[in-house]
Amino acid sequence: RPFRVDVVTIFPEYLAPLRQSLLGKAAERGLVAIGVHDLRNWTDDVHRTVDDAPYGGGPGMVMRPEPWARALEEVRPPGTRLVVPTPAGRPFTQATAAEWAGEPGLVFACGRYEGIDQRVAEWAAAAGPVSEVSIGDYVLAGGESAVLVMVEAVTRLLPGVVGNRESVEFDSHADGLLEGPSYTRPASWRDREVPPVLLSGDHAAIARWRRAESLRRTAERRPDLLAALPEETLTGADRAV
Ligand code: SAM
Repeated sequence: RPFRVDVVTIFPEYLAPLRQSLLGKAAERGLVAIGVHDLRNWTDDVHRTVDDAPYGGGPGMVMRPEPWARALEEVRPPGTRLVVPTPAGRPFTQATAAEWAGEPGLVFACGRYEGIDQRVAEWAAAAGPVSEVSIGDYVLAGGESAVLVMVEAVTRLLPGVVGNRESVEFDSHADGLLEGPSYTRPASWRDREVPPVLLSGDHAAIARWRRAESLRRTAERRPDLLAALPEETLTGADRAV
C-alpha cells in the first residue's frame, strides 16, 4: 500500500511540486499517494470565509475552526497523524522524519495568517496523534512551504523511493553528525586537488578519513549536535580528531 499524504490548504496550487521530481516518480510507481484539498470547499458562506478576528484583540486574523473540522473529518483516515506546521511547534528533525516514514501516511493542515484556532489541534487529538512542528527558527507566511520540506524529508526515507539505500543511511543527521565533503572528477581542478586518501583505494583509510571529516565539520558548524551525542557513540579514534 502506498504511503498516503493529504494536504489541506487555501493555496492548493502551491503544492504542485509534490508531483515533480523524486516524489512525482514515487507517485507514478505507486509508492506514494498524494491528495491536495482546498479548505474553502468546507466553508459554509458565499464568500467562503476561512478567517476571523482574534479573540482578545491584536493584529492579524485567525483561521476559523469549523471548516478545518469538516475538512479533517472527510480527509483524515482514522488514526492517521495530523501534522500542523507552526513556528511555535516542536522542532521537526531527521529523527521525526524517520519515525513518520514508518507510519501508513500523514495529513497536513497548512495554516495562514496568525495560524489556526487552537481548539482544532485539541479536538483532532481524539482521532489520532497530532504533531505541532516547526521546520526552523524563522517565520514563514504559511505552512505550505514547510509541508513541502517535511514531505520530501519523510518520503525519501520510504523503501524504494531513493534508489541507493546507502546514500540515505550516510546522509547528514542520519547518525547525529554532519556529512563531510564530497568530490568528483577531475582529481585536479583549477589548482585544487582532491584529498589523496580518496584516490588511494584503501577503503579502511577512506572510512577513517570520512569519519574524521564528519566530526571536524560537526564540531565547527554544529557544536550543539556534537554535545547532544550519547557518550558511547564516540570511539577513541573519534576523540583523537
Ligand atoms: N502567529 C504565529 C506565531 O507567531 O507563532 C505565526 C503564524 S505564521 C505567519 C503563518 C503560518 O505559517 C503558520 O500557521 C504555519 O503554518 C506557517 N509557519 C510559519 N513559520 C513556520 C515554521 N518555522 N515552521 C512551520 N510552519 C511555519
